[in-house]
Amino acid sequence: MKAIRYEGAGKMAVAESDKPKLSSSTDAILRVTTSGICGSDLHMYDGRTPLKKGTVVGHEIMGVIEEVGEAVRSIKEGDRVVLPFNIACGYCYNCIRGFTNSCLTMNPEKAHAAYGYAGMGPFGGGQAEFVLVPYADFNCLKLPGTPGDQWEDDFLLLSDVFPTGYHGAEMAAVTPGKSVAVLGGGPVGLLAAYSSVLKGAAEVYVIDRVPERLDKAKELGAIPVDFLKGDPVEQIFELRKKNKGIQGSLRPGEEKLKGVDCVVDAVGYQAQPDKERVPSAEKPTQPLENAARLVNPAGGIGVVGVYIAPDPGGRTEQEKQGIYPIPVAELFDKSVTIGFGQTPVKRYNEYLRDMIVAGRAKPSKIVSHRIHIEEAPDAYDKFRQRTQGYTKVLIKFGKLAA
Ligand SMILES: [Zn+2]
Ligand SMILES: [Zn+2]
Repeated sequence: MKAIRYEGAGKMAVAESDKPKLSSSTDAILRVTTSGICGSDLHMYDGRTPLKKGTVVGHEIMGVIEEVGEAVRSIKEGDRVVLPFNIACGYCYNCIRGFTNSCLTMNPEKAHAAYGYAGMGPFGGGQAEFVLVPYADFNCLKLPGTPGDQWEDDFLLLSDVFPTGYHGAEMAAVTPGKSVAVLGGGPVGLLAAYSSVLKGAAEVYVIDRVPERLDKAKELGAIPVDFLKGDPVEQIFELRKKNKGIQGSLRPGEEKLKGVDCVVDAVGYQAQPDKERVPSAEKPTQPLENAARLVNPAGGIGVVGVYIAPDPGGRTEQEKQGIYPIPVAELFDKSVTIGFGQTPVKRYNEYLRDMIVAGRAKPSKIVSHRIHIEEAPDAYDKFRQRTQGYTKVLIKFGKLAA
């Protein structure tokens, strides 16, 4: 089968790979119809994770079940499904409590597992024609419709970025009427903003520098903030100060609420410094510094942007270990609640699917490119440079690639 393999920093290649076989009676084999290239794949592409050469990558996967092991009960050949990027067992202490992002049994080295990703266990990725699904009953989300229909791209986004954006909003405690700032207008940032709108937030700001992303944020109902035009935190303070509706309703003391109730970090450690115009410049603490300044006292911060260690590209010994100076005193002073980490996709994916089916959510508005697998190496390069509007790229397989 054809698959995308990591062949070293800056090199993803289309290669012939062995088709996976059932290795346990609880497995299934999925014939992939659509697979996403994720912003988090770029950390591996940049050589910023210790990933073994030859690994088949890709953790955003949907398709049609080709074969199931004899112990699989709820999924059968021909079913259309999407996979959460987290691979989870369903029976460990954390899975039972709903924390499938911290499954204790799937990865011998850490408390989480995923398809085709550095540090996430020995699992093959889904930027490939076929993928092995462990514990298929637990890890498949059943979908209505047929491959290539009006929901195909929406459903693919249920594997990661839609639930991840939603989780960012959940951890930041977004509820109706709240004010929200999303750091980063990539796919996760855009869908965190969209999720905030769906949850009924009153104001949603999205900070980025790429014009196509800022335009998309506006289309989704958010207020775009371009950090190349000046300190984005001050820009949001200013926008709120100039808003007569906000200022006209302030009671004594509320002038201290210059920022927002909720902040979502959808950037992570490969962040660009606000004042820097060179896209390759990095400042890993920029998102959390901005979050600390932006969040109002007693507010919430959800961190879904990725922070990974060891980081061979860190500028100092501490950065290589993922240790960063962040304004802890300011966060304590403001009594901020912070949530970190990977999304337990299964907590949200059924409900978000049902919003798509009911016509209440259309996350595929963020998809910028649909490509054939042969075009993937070039798409990685363009996505990494954020050029030509490359925001969210989906690889199409089989009939959908024609
Ligand atoms: Zn992803
Ligand atoms: Zn588990």
